[in-house]
Amino acid sequence: MEEFTIVGGGIAGASLGYHLKKHGHEVTIYDRNDAGNATAASAGIINPWVSQRRNKKWYRLVTEAAKFYPEFISRLERETHLDTGYTRRGAISLFKDDEVLELGYDRINKKRDGAPEMGGVMKLSREEVKQRHPYLNGSYPGVYVEGGAQVKGALLGAALKNAFISAGGEWVEEEAPAQAGDHLTIYATGAWGVEQDFGPAIRHQRSEVLHFKVEGPEVVNTPVVMALGPIYIVEMGDNEFAIGTTHIDTHSFDASPSEENHRYLRGLAERYFPDHEITDVKMMTGFKPYARDHLPFIGYHDDRTFVINGLGATGLTAGPYIGHEVARCLSGLGTGLDLNDYSHTEPEN
Ligand SMILES: Cc1cc2nc3c(=O)[nH]c(=O)nc-3n(C[C@H](O)[C@H](O)[C@H](O)COP(=O)(O)OP(=O)(O)OC[C@H]3O[C@@H](n4cnc5c(N)ncnc54)[C@H](O)[C@@H]3O)c2cc1C
Repeated sequence: MEEFTIVGGGIAGASLGYHLKKHGHEVTIYDRNDAGNATAASAGIINPWVSQRRNKKWYRLVTEAAKFYPEFISRLERETHLDTGYTRRGAISLFKDDEVLELGYDRINKKRDGAPEMGGVMKLSREEVKQRHPYLNGSYPGVYVEGGAQVKGALLGAALKNAFISAGGEWVEEEAPAQAGDHLTIYATGAWGVEQDFGPAIRHQRSEVLHFKVEGPEVVNTPVVMALGPIYIVEMGDNEFAIGTTHIDTHSFDASPSEENHRYLRGLAERYFPDHEITDVKMMTGFKPYARDHLPFIGYHDDRTFVINGLGATGLTAGPYIGHEVARCLSGLGTGLDLNDYSHTEPEN
């Protein structure tokens, strides 16, 4: 049994703490719960196969992570009796017309090779999109991926914290001390990684999501919608939906909602759900952490400091599996991922 300190209790730190406890270690997590914590703001889409990104190391990470999710969630929910909001109702990617739909379908369908967890992939006409999601405007055809899922970041974080404490872990809700001791400290500080002088430098993007209620008959079990551009819509339950996100590179840590982004997201909500009255519920702001060119950094800074950061826009997908893999590595066990792929500090290309 070894002793570890983890700084940061977002998805990266909480998952690592949970998995280190499974290996019997003594673990303390310090978490300041800063406003703008990315895990709590996340809409939690797990649908990596539709991405157009070509980085193979990133793709391996997120697809292995998506495969890991169902078993991980069922164990966590069984242990804690807490709901994480994980549902696997599929995901529809919308395309602007039938020509682009064909291209999108070919690209996405090719990803099925070697990824059975993706499930079926099918083209949907405008009418079929509307059958699966009655509130949508019905203007666009789509591609449906059966394995697409969503999880509520705040609930998942709470369940991990609960399981970690129940297993004897110490969770301290405050700033981490400058020097935690002679043992290994793992920094999983998200956007606030900029406060540490570790390479590669961490930068962040501020993203906002609008949660809104829709008047009308209750619509349930709708798939995740990957709308046009970088926009997505997810059902939160009780006729509440979330639409996001905005993306702004910034140095600021001001997490208060912006009126301009609210107007923009509200306009999108009205465009995608044109036939129904919409009422705002809340705006959520989070800071997505980036290292290098969107590939996470997972590795040693020095022999007493380990860093997990730069989880970017797919950190809720990747975070649970990263925690599992790093816990195995720090316990001297073999890993499914080659963690050396994520431990270099130079730019990727
Ligand atoms: C709006 C939004 C939507 C998103 N949607 C998705 C999605 O659909 N799918 C997906 O896969 N990913 C999504 N993401 C990305 C994902 O949420 C992030 O990549 C992930 O949550 C980052 O986790 P993290 O643990 O690295 O950082 P965070 O969750 O930000 O946690 C870092 C924690 O460290 C704490 N901390 C920092 N410094 C210290 C210190 N010195 N002492 C103590 N505590 C400290 C902070 O207070 C914070 O609680 C989204 C993100 C945002 C913002």
